[in-house]
Amino acid sequence: MYEKILVPTDGSETAENAVEHALDLAEKYGAEVHALYVVDVDSMSLSLGAEQVDRLQQGQFDEMEEVKAKAEEATGYVADRARAHGLKTVEHIAGGQPHGVVAEYAEDHDIDLVVMGSHGRSGVKRALLGSVTERTLRSTHVPVLVVDVRDEEE
Ligand code: ATP
Ligand code: MN
Repeated sequence: MYEKILVPTDGSETAENAVEHALDLAEKYGAEVHALYVVDVDSMSLSLGAEQVDRLQQGQFDEMEEVKAKAEEATGYVADRARAHGLKTVEHIAGGQPHGVVAEYAEDHDIDLVVMGSHGRSGVKRALLGSVTERTLRSTHVPVLVVDVRDEEE
């Protein structure tokens, strides 16, 4: 049923908590774990030139050390935890609109389940769901497991 599980992460504590749910299921099903970080191009476009925006959209982060480091830290956390459980893992960093990239990645890689946090870095806790999660639910037919940890944090 679940051969490939996608964990979109923005490096937030909430996303990291969702990882444990993904790993438990991956262990039980012998699934491969895909960690995906999306560099949010829209949120950066005001401070960048058109050329840099283009490069981000094509997934070229090599000259943007800070962006790359943050992305690698986020996917690396998921991959390290998954490897510690002996699971096969794939790390991926892409540029674009987070929900769009997540939905597209799920489609392109035959993902069976997406596991993500209810909230993320900007964390407006009053909203039931963060916008990336809400939009992902609207953008894909792949089942999504949303891990809500608001109670633990408050
Ligand atoms: P908002 O961004 O709407 O202000 P938020 O930051 O609290 O609110 P979301 O961004 O929707 O909430 O984050 C919810 C979950 O979506 C995260 O726990 C993570 O799993 C995933 N996510 C968010 N941003 C990204 C991203 N840039 N790349 C990959 N996954 C992401
Ligand atoms: Mn967010």
